[in-house]
Amino acid sequence: MIHNITLIPGDGIGPEVIRAARRCIEATGVKVTWDVVAAGQDAIDKYGDILPKNVLESIKKNKVALKGPIITPIGEGFRSVNVAIRQALDLYACVRPAKSYPGVKSPYKDIDLVIIRENSEDLYAGIEFEEGKTETKELISKLEELAHKKIRQDSGISIKPISKYASERIVKFAFEYAVKYNRKKVTVVHKANIMKFTDGIFLKTAREVAKDYTHKIIFEEAIVDNMAMQLVQKPRNYDVLVLPNLYGDIISDLCAGLVGGLGVAPGANIGDDMAVFEAVHGAAPKYKGMNKVNPTAMILSGVLMLRYIKEDKAADKLEEAVKKVLAEGRSVTYDLKPYCDDPTSVGTQEMADAIIKNLK
Ligand code: NAD
Repeated sequence: MIHNITLIPGDGIGPEVIRAARRCIEATGVKVTWDVVAAGQDAIDKYGDILPKNVLESIKKNKVALKGPIITPIGEGFRSVNVAIRQALDLYACVRPAKSYPGVKSPYKDIDLVIIRENSEDLYAGIEFEEGKTETKELISKLEELAHKKIRQDSGISIKPISKYASERIVKFAFEYAVKYNRKKVTVVHKANIMKFTDGIFLKTAREVAKDYTHKIIFEEAIVDNMAMQLVQKPRNYDVLVLPNLYGDIISDLCAGLVGGLGVAPGANIGDDMAVFEAVHGAAPKYKGMNKVNPTAMILSGVLMLRYIKEDKAADKLEEAVKKVLAEGRSVTYDLKPYCDDPTSVGTQEMADAIIKNLK
């Protein structure tokens, strides 16, 4: 079978890690027709548009995409293209496994966590009011009147919507994921003790959804700040975590840190009938074009993609090859060597070459 897949190289280090992942995926023998489309700086240069229409159209048609990271300027200009893609396609579940691989430097061993982050709501919904604007001042007065609280006039305001609908579908997704992949436990992470009407909904809904799964999956609750400490002290006590958007973003980076950093952390954004696979890391602009960064996170995102398109054998084969190269520690990038300036470290494409050699 030939799979039609959208390929978004992205910017910064995106094109390099995407090239490495594409080569590895093709070397598994899976047949893919790639529809290569530009988004981010690449698209501004070519079409004067950061997210041209054909990107979303291509993903809608093919239902699967592999995407490189895209730069988001801080504080001004356009909102994140990455967030825009997730929202436009309603890719509501962000799945980020954090797994230990022998050979990758980390104080921890044998970690196997999966972070499932709600992708559509919360402070990432993009409802923000800029300091000093007329509508912000109006909103502040209205809020003061309704909430009987003082808000400083020179405040900016971000709104945090969390609905029953989105909470239910993400928690269900987490339990279904746990069942499908033989996981033992789902932990819902929240701050409902303080944010009673937003995180409160998330927690209450999770408790309801959990009732349908208690016969097969253990359900636990954790407050996000305590969760951060527990993950550092006893990460092996956890299995699948389900979180609202912002906590999910932060905790998934923490978990990437537990298993050796962003260079080895893959991810997926999944909706009801389509998915976009991308590494947790960003575009690391300072390394752009240097053939230096670690392609593992992008390649492992490709492994998740292969499983999604039901090419499990190819996925297993590619993951095994990645494992071997990591365990050997010879043909790996600088970040995986004992010292960053290790002269034996190899480039992005050379690490991909080593992985391809180990495919059988
Ligand atoms: P980043 O992940 O791009 O880089 C932070 C640091 O992590 C890098 O300087 C580098 O030291 C290390 N790193 C990242 N990827 C690596 C790899 N593959 N191999 C080795 N080391 C690696 O985070 P940032 O600097 O906060 O963000 C840079 C840009 O990327 C920003 O514009 C940000 O908005 C964007 N971003 C995009 C996405 C996405 O496309 N999904 C995700 C996160 C950040």
